[in-house]
Amino acid sequence: MIAVLKPSATDEQKNHLISWLKSQSLDVHVSQGENYTVLGLIGDTGIIDVDLLESLEMVESVKRVSEPFKQVNRKFHPEDTVVEIGGKVKIGGGNFVLIAGPCSVESRGQVAQIAREVSAAGADVLRGGAFKPRTSPYDFQGLKADGIELLLEAKKETGMPIISEIMNANHLPLFDDVDIIQIGARNMQNFELLKEVGKTDKPILLKRGLANTLKELLMSAEYIMSEGNRNVILCERGIRTFETATRNTLDLSAVPMLREMTHLPVVIDPSHATGIARLVEPMAMAAAASGADGIMVEVHNDPIHALCDGAQSLTPSQFEKVASKVRLIREVALQ
Ligand code: PEP
Ligand code: MN
Repeated sequence: MIAVLKPSATDEQKNHLISWLKSQSLDVHVSQGENYTVLGLIGDTGIIDVDLLESLEMVESVKRVSEPFKQVNRKFHPEDTVVEIGGKVKIGGGNFVLIAGPCSVESRGQVAQIAREVSAAGADVLRGGAFKPRTSPYDFQGLKADGIELLLEAKKETGMPIISEIMNANHLPLFDDVDIIQIGARNMQNFELLKEVGKTDKPILLKRGLANTLKELLMSAEYIMSEGNRNVILCERGIRTFETATRNTLDLSAVPMLREMTHLPVVIDPSHATGIARLVEPMAMAAAASGADGIMVEVHNDPIHALCDGAQSLTPSQFEKVASKVRLIREVALQ
């Protein structure tokens, strides 16, 4: 349920109402807009008399939120959420972020070189997988803790915040200095993992599952937020359809749809969505035009010899071109 308070409501009135609602065993989420204050009520709201609440002088309107996702709901928090990354980068609410780097961290030299080059090309955040969720157990599984160390070295050298995927909550201590924790598509509904990252205050990039609806994606984000972590970023990375020409099918309509459904920032990953390096540029541009808050692209200094996802990886110079085109498109799209 949400209660919208009038601009004339005083702080004293607001606090009084909030403590009464809390005394009814409800969780109250306050979203302060420029004029109106929105109170999001979570719990057994059946006990609240809507007419009574609406009759209070300070209350503008009361609505039941029928969707099962509450805290991620745009109705609960009408303004865009802005997530701060590593104290220097922001995403959401008009702040656009380019994330780039290898699918997997392979060696010190590899990640250091890619980090320098994507940074020079205008990337804001460095990506790199250390724990890799591979379809085959015989494929390269990532450098694990050593991979995180190498990413941290690259962060130190370039000053770029870093993002890496977690697969097991026991690994959380390794991610202390990682700026964004990625939950991969395959773990989108690993609810225990979602709850554990929800107990941290780190930005979490939650990727949409291979065959999950937007509602399911939002319910997974709700798991993270319900534990107290409000720094959630959503990522559309292609879904599985009957089409086999591309690795997945990029559901770009997810961007404007999610914009209506939620206040959380939305990132597009055209690399995993298409699986083909030459399709990354057009889809990255389309993503920028659709209003995405960020784009995440796989970049490798030697794609042919990459240990993972070389076919969809751009070289640093290809990325530089994509980055400048994406920024141009964004300027046009914002007009
Ligand atoms: C990745 O980002 O490297 C990755 C494994 O992505 P996804 O979970 O979307 O497949
Ligand atoms: Mn990959």
